[in-house]
Amino acid sequence: MRPLPGRLILLGHPVAHSLSPRFQNAALQAAGIPLVYETRDVPPEALRGVIASLAAERAAGNVTIPHKEAFAACCARLSPLAARCAAVNTYWHEEGALVGDNTDVGGVDAMALALLGAARASARVALLGAGGSAAAVLAAVERWGSARLRLYNRSVERARALASRFGAEVEVVTSAGEALDGATLVVNATPVGLHDDGMPVEVELLPRGAAVLDLVYRQGETAWVRAARAAGHRATDGEGMLVEQGALSFERWFGIAPDRDAMWRALH
Ligand code: NAP
Repeated sequence: MRPLPGRLILLGHPVAHSLSPRFQNAALQAAGIPLVYETRDVPPEALRGVIASLAAERAAGNVTIPHKEAFAACCARLSPLAARCAAVNTYWHEEGALVGDNTDVGGVDAMALALLGAARASARVALLGAGGSAAAVLAAVERWGSARLRLYNRSVERARALASRFGAEVEVVTSAGEALDGATLVVNATPVGLHDDGMPVEVELLPRGAAVLDLVYRQGETAWVRAARAAGHRATDGEGMLVEQGALSFERWFGIAPDRDAMWRALH
């Protein structure tokens, strides 16, 4: 195990809701680590000041909406995945230097593997959305062998800007229908369905046999995931990704694997 950080702190927006303290504290208890996972509300204008104070606390932790990109720009070192995403969701200090990583990518990897198995390597992915979590999906898919991805976003310019940082495996399209054509995995990386029963695309439009990964999570799953499963699709919401990115963060902080079952039990 690595030397323990002084504190474990999630930095986020005052209204950002997160289940992370529940499962991270369960993991800490299960491992007998005498730390408490805290949350700290940080408005954007306060981020730089807060980051400057983290070294003295020997802090490690997570970063969430809306700070992932701004935090990355403040790190002394980035992991290759954080650099690829230009976003950090996990940080710690090494000899006083702030290090940033991105475990959202591993969270996407794990959920896609659970849905597709070995077929992930040749997946045809339809990705809806072009924000921070969409970048994590692109960084994941480019490591899956011969997988290819069609990217559709409400504002096409943002989709083009994101795709330009990735390779030929990413194609920007201008309608959800084009993205869905031939897809074996459909990923929602927009907030649609977060607060209501909105659907990122109608379930009737999903290609036969396509798996569905909704990055959004809600109590009782999202309406889209429930409807897709009822129509015979393999489907999962973002809770699994959330727990897996948290488990991978735990591994970065402590150098040991957490008790994932204890993390899941803390949520249900
Ligand atoms: P973001 O950076 O703000 O990007 C949001 C994207 O969704 C943008 O491309 C935006 O399009 C699009 N969008 C927003 N409202 C829309 C609408 N009403 N209809 C269609 N498109 C819309 O957000 P993010 O960080 O990528 O997060 C997106 C969602 O993923 C979050 O709501 C969160 O629930 C989920 N998430 C889950 C996890 C997890 O661990 N499960 C991790 C990260 C995020 P424009 O460019 O046109 O504005």
